Amino acid sequence: MYRPLLDSIPYSHSVGKILCVGRNYVAHAKELNNPIPNEPVLFIKPATSACDIDEPLVLPQGRGSVHHELEVAVLIGRPLTHASEDESYTAIAGIGLGLDLTLRDLQSRLKEKGLPWERAKSFDRACPLSGFVSLEKETDLQSLTFSLLRNQQVQQQGNSQHMLFPILSLIAHISEIFTLNPGDIVMTGTPAGVGELVQGDELTLELDGMLKVNTRVAE
Ligand code: ZN
Repeated sequence: MYRPLLDSIPYSHSVGKILCVGRNYVAHAKELNNPIPNEPVLFIKPATSACDIDEPLVLPQGRGSVHHELEVAVLIGRPLTHASEDESYTAIAGIGLGLDLTLRDLQSRLKEKGLPWERAKSFDRACPLSGFVSLEKETDLQSLTFSLLRNQQVQQQGNSQHMLFPILSLIAHISEIFTLNPGDIVMTGTPAGVGELVQGDELTLELDGMLKVNTRVAE
């Protein structure tokens, strides 16, 4: 039932920038005691943070807890500047899953001081990405279910219908500020259930019958 992946596009030689949105699910904003935003909270991970999720995940050592944030990832296939939602739709080359890996203790300290989050979110290998599946006519971007199992336990379960800023309006909004180019990726925010990863964890990620990935955290 799983459709073939686009040729594994990711990884630093072909990925551009990775546009991420924070607090796009109310339940997740609440679990971290963050206010509900009235416009998307945006940040960028550089291409050097992209890595292949099929490879064992290498976590930074000695910098505190590393949290998984499972997110629907959108691969951009055409340049977008001041785009409409229709233009955003036709620019989507594929959808997949990504982990917005976050050094949570460090991020909390940076947030307290009002400092940027890059040290906590944009380090090397902070964005493991799956391959990408092209959209079918029947693909409904506003009701994508996705999940993360950690050691056979459901850890995160999301549905894109709960996004504060839905995928197409999010991409259109981003393109008002940052031109998106082919190879750029939009990470659409994480649902509730974020938590710590430790060495040896076995992970299964699934996207709405379209994509299933088994991977693990390196020892
Ligand atoms: Zn995130």
